[in-house]
Amino acid sequence: MTRPTLIRRISDLRAALSAPRREGQSIGLVPTMGYLHRGHMALVDRARGENGIVVVSIFVNPTQFGPNEDLDIYPRDLDGDLKLCAAHGVDIVFAPEVDDMYPEPMATTIDVAPLSTILIGAQRPGHFQGVATVVAKLFNIVQPTRAYFGEKDFQQLTVVRRMVRDLSFDIAIVGVPTVREADGLAASSRNARLSPADRHAATVVSRALDLAEALVAGGERDSDKVADAVRQMIAGEKRAGTPTVDLREAGTLSEVGMIGETPVVVLVTVPLGGVLLLDQREIHGAAGANQARRTA
Ligand code: AMP
Repeated sequence: MTRPTLIRRISDLRAALSAPRREGQSIGLVPTMGYLHRGHMALVDRARGENGIVVVSIFVNPTQFGPNEDLDIYPRDLDGDLKLCAAHGVDIVFAPEVDDMYPEPMATTIDVAPLSTILIGAQRPGHFQGVATVVAKLFNIVQPTRAYFGEKDFQQLTVVRRMVRDLSFDIAIVGVPTVREADGLAASSRNARLSPADRHAATVVSRALDLAEALVAGGERDSDKVADAVRQMIAGEKRAGTPTVDLREAGTLSEVGMIGETPVVVLVTVPLGGVLLLDQREIHGAAGANQARRTA
């Protein structure tokens, strides 16, 4: 097991990638904010299987945090991250300093409107502009063949896919299904901040998504009724704050009334124990499709 090369500066990363690029090796990029866990590693393993060189970026990007958000307390553990990356065959960990990424205030931002202002974008103004802009920077720095994003952050994945289409980035965007803990909770760096009682309560989110899937499988087609049932189930958990629950078309995030043949995604955010939990479930209205997907 060789440790990955830790690179701190943009210029050093470009230099390190120039030979493999010349040799025609493919480059897979996994952008992260660190404090890596099994969820991130699913992206890494996929990248490892599909590319000659795997780069994991670790950058807690200040521009995607609002003034009252958790930038200062976001968990960090570079040493642990390097060990995990070594165990999963990562070639390069790129962990730039804020000063190198943003030597001066940015005059340019990327706004994938209206995808960036709906849903979580309405709760976190500026968040997706920060995400799109830093992802575009990372794409220009690394120039990967493929880049890997989790479906857990479904809106983020949708924003990135749209940006890549709009701006003609020559990069394949690969979406990776959500990795869960044994009790169903989506793996997340922020879960580390939950008390044991809140950690237990947090399972209500995936159980509510199971309910949504079961309702549609049982013939319910009214998206409002499905959303209400999910809300009610989460409201039954006293430790949970008020959730947002939205059913949207999976490809475009546009609103749906009746669930038909087009896949829909149930998007949930719930404040719980000082953390904003996020989860999502894609559901197909066509009979038998969900079962077929799950066993595939
Ligand atoms: P983050 O470090 O939270 O910015 O996440 C970096 C990448 O890992 C994003 O593309 C996330 O969607 C993805 N990711 C985080 N948690 C999970 C998970 N539980 N399953 C799959 N992907 C995840």
